[in-house]
Amino acid sequence: MAEPELVDVVVVGLGVGGEEVAGRLAGAGLSVVGVERDLVGGECPYWGCIPSKMMIRAANALAEARRVDGLAGSAQVRADWAPVAKRIREEATDTWNDRAAVDRFTGKGGRFLRGSGRLDGPGRVRVGDQVFQARHGIVLGTGTRPSIAPIDGLADTPYWTNHQAIEVAELPASLLVLGGGAIGVELAQVFARFGVRVTVLEASGRILALEEPESSEVAAAALRADGVEIATDVKAERIDHDGDTFTVHAGDRSFSADQLLVVTGRRAHLDELGLDTVGIDAGQRYLPVDDRMHVTDGIWAVGDVTGEGAFTHIAMYQASIVVADVLDRVRRAQAGPDASGTASVVGGAMGAASAVGGSVGAAGLSGAVPRADYRALPRVTFTDPEVGAVGLTERQARERGINVQVGFTELSSSTRGWIHGSEPGGFIKVIADADQGVLIGATSVGPAGGEVLSALVVAVHAAVPVSQLRHMIYAYPTFHRAIQSALDDLG
Ligand SMILES: Cc1cc2nc3c(=O)[nH]c(=O)nc-3n(C[C@H](O)[C@H](O)[C@H](O)COP(=O)(O)OP(=O)(O)OC[C@H]3O[C@@H](n4cnc5c(N)ncnc54)[C@H](O)[C@@H]3O)c2cc1C
Repeated sequence: MAEPELVDVVVVGLGVGGEEVAGRLAGAGLSVVGVERDLVGGECPYWGCIPSKMMIRAANALAEARRVDGLAGSAQVRADWAPVAKRIREEATDTWNDRAAVDRFTGKGGRFLRGSGRLDGPGRVRVGDQVFQARHGIVLGTGTRPSIAPIDGLADTPYWTNHQAIEVAELPASLLVLGGGAIGVELAQVFARFGVRVTVLEASGRILALEEPESSEVAAAALRADGVEIATDVKAERIDHDGDTFTVHAGDRSFSADQLLVVTGRRAHLDELGLDTVGIDAGQRYLPVDDRMHVTDGIWAVGDVTGEGAFTHIAMYQASIVVADVLDRVRRAQAGPDASGTASVVGGAMGAASAVGGSVGAAGLSGAVPRADYRALPRVTFTDPEVGAVGLTERQARERGINVQVGFTELSSSTRGWIHGSEPGGFIKVIADADQGVLIGATSVGPAGGEVLSALVVAVHAAVPVSQLRHMIYAYPTFHRAIQSALDDLG
């Protein structure tokens, strides 16, 4: 058996979260081994946020050009997927090559290993034949993979996950999208705008089922206006592929198309991580963490694998906490048992303390390490109109027994919404805790729904009293000015 090599930190999985942690700790002067089996950067830059938003940018340009008729003359639009595929290949993903990201990490002093890492007992990580003993800690940022439902026949078909959908160079004539969550509806609208006949098959009663019902209605209307068919309450039972055509069978209904995209959720693969060697149950859906991302002593987790929200902004947010906490631990170790909180420590670690916003410096050894707080978790579905939301939905708030007040306004009743015209529709809905007098959730749907959301995120995050929000000055005529009308509607 190989002799373990002593290093400061091992980071397993260099997706958004792991790459951020590994790079910042290496930049701080720690000896960091970063292990990635696929591409450094993970899902977001290669098969997720960035290329999908490039597609959306292009699809929205087509939609906007099609709105010229009646507003500004007439426009003839001929959609062409080739420049979109080229931009994704060349600008976004470097043809799915991560050399720039690897160089960025090694340039900070990190040591990169391509391979699969797994825990190998307390403080140890194995990558093939190599074993590392981590002096200060191990960070798991192994993300999620598509969760493929065990539907009869599906595994034998050449279905797409988000990977093939993002990599596609030539579009199919027709597409079934199995799953009407955020990823499904974003991609459905993109492909429809490029002329693909798209049908979304959703198991529950509405698309975007985790958001407000009003959001589902507006999104469904927008997708239908783009020619997307939406079939709800579809419990797929069998899927066939005859060489050319996919057919999804659900009860007495069946749906056929040239291609099938499966976006029915994502799941962590904990069974591959050697968790049993450190006494952690690998049978869980996600890796539970505390508010400083501890899985157990000396092991942190970051990003999608924690189950706290499958968003890049969650992975980045958690990464900052992990970096601060690891450096705090390093400083404690170096300062010794009598550490007073202002111990002088090796330059590298102190350097990083300022790199994390000065939150771990003179303020003390652990008091300043930020704690995770997900009350104001924002999420945006980048359809047109965008569906932005923060905090609790009305239903979630009521289920928690909160004394709920709801305020609602259609965007079209605001000056800016009216000027903009009926397409693509939208609204603002605010959820208040009547006893506390603060917002605990909000939804902003509209042409810039994700941007308008920012004001509502601040309101929920900072628990700004509703009375103060009502007496703010909202610029005229902006979309965000509709927030004031929604607040007025609270009564
Ligand atoms: C189509 C799509 C669109 C999206 N759009 C958005 C968006 O607009 N906004 C947003 O906030 N989020 C979006 N997301 C979600 C976002 O991509 C994820 O939340 C983010 O990538 C999570 O980062 P992560 O570091 O947790 O995991 P990942 O990015 O999944 O990275 C984990 C990495 O760990 C590696 N790994 C796993 N196991 C091991 C092992 N044992 N050893 C070595 N390496 C391992 C994997 O190869 C992978 O590279 C989107 C996702 C998809 C699929």
